[in-house]
Amino acid sequence: MKDRINVFILKEGAPVFYYFDYAATTPVCKQAVQAAQLAMESQWENPSSLYPGGQQCATLLSAWRDEIAQALGCRGDHVFFTSCASESNNWAIYTALEKNRRKGKHIITTAIEHPSVQNCCKFLAQKGYDVTFLKPNESGIVTAQMVCDALREDTALVSVMMVNNELGSIFPVSEIAQRVRTQDKNVLIHCDAVQGFLHMPFSMQTLHVDFLSLSGHKIGAPKGIGALYVRDKKTLVPLLHGGGQEMGMRAGTEATAQIAAFAAAVAAGRATMQEDMAHIKMIHAYARQSLQRKCRDIVFLLPEEGTSPHILAFSVTGYKSEVLVRVLGDKGIYLSSGSACHKGKASHVYAALNLPKKVLDGVLRASFSAQTTVKEVDALVQEIAMAQDTLYQSLS
Ligand code: PLP
Repeated sequence: MKDRINVFILKEGAPVFYYFDYAATTPVCKQAVQAAQLAMESQWENPSSLYPGGQQCATLLSAWRDEIAQALGCRGDHVFFTSCASESNNWAIYTALEKNRRKGKHIITTAIEHPSVQNCCKFLAQKGYDVTFLKPNESGIVTAQMVCDALREDTALVSVMMVNNELGSIFPVSEIAQRVRTQDKNVLIHCDAVQGFLHMPFSMQTLHVDFLSLSGHKIGAPKGIGALYVRDKKTLVPLLHGGGQEMGMRAGTEATAQIAAFAAAVAAGRATMQEDMAHIKMIHAYARQSLQRKCRDIVFLLPEEGTSPHILAFSVTGYKSEVLVRVLGDKGIYLSSGSACHKGKASHVYAALNLPKKVLDGVLRASFSAQTTVKEVDALVQEIAMAQDTLYQSLS
């Protein structure tokens, strides 16, 4: 289990808040803090400098890159550091379209991608690209068949996520990639793996995608660091021109402290992944059972099977999720009414599921980590049950 700092803050012995929003961001684990501190205090030279201190940093940078690569099952020179997964997603999309510009201007993606994919594609649609946003099925995914049915001669890019950040649904990425390739070997394939990384086992050897995006702050690293995996470097066009960093593809002096922390969080996460996954699965099952037993009119958006256990989307039917999030927040229960990126706006993901309005209005997302305890889940369920009573009285 990763050693975290302040999963919930203790004040005079009592927890001030319980955190159920790990899909939005995670606390930075101790290993990452220590690695960042070391990088800032004694490994701070510029990795491009030719004197020994600089070269030592260059060696460390290469080792940190290898750490991410090992977790992906690829070589280090296929991993490019970015500032966040939003940047990785944008870069992957632009580079794929640039490399495939002779093939055409058709993009296939889903209607429930993260905004960093969805809004990038919407922007491109305004610039003359033709984008197919596939609606998910009742399991909250698109199937390989759905993607293949949408393929056209001018399809340049397919972009599908690994795990949906608001539902937890797991997309059959490997099958999609293999079937797309069989039908048209020239289509480039991108996967946003932010919510899958270290939550489920996968390897670039079997995923068959051309580009894959990762984010540090979802796995115990600080904000401000992400990565892009690229299968064939010939498909990559530079994002930032300048000093030749990131193999000439993304200029700017490397954010070594964040990178060190990212590598440390990945190493820590990999070391305990199996036990963490088992714990989170138990917590997910317990939360479902408790909500069902102790609260009224709970509708789970998806069945337990086929979803990543760190995300649980459910509706407190008949109540407004924004009101619940605020009421629960005041009681020290932190969870979300969708992705944090929506900032209270209706979620395009839940809207795509065609839920009855009463169910849609009350959707909450609880997300768990290896640090989440049964006691915390009890507090969550108890406060939802209490909010149901209070809000019922205030509404009646
Ligand atoms: N993709 C998914 C599925 C996410 O959940 C997120 C963050 O919420 C992102 C991309 C964006 O990550 P970042 O905050 O590193 O830009």
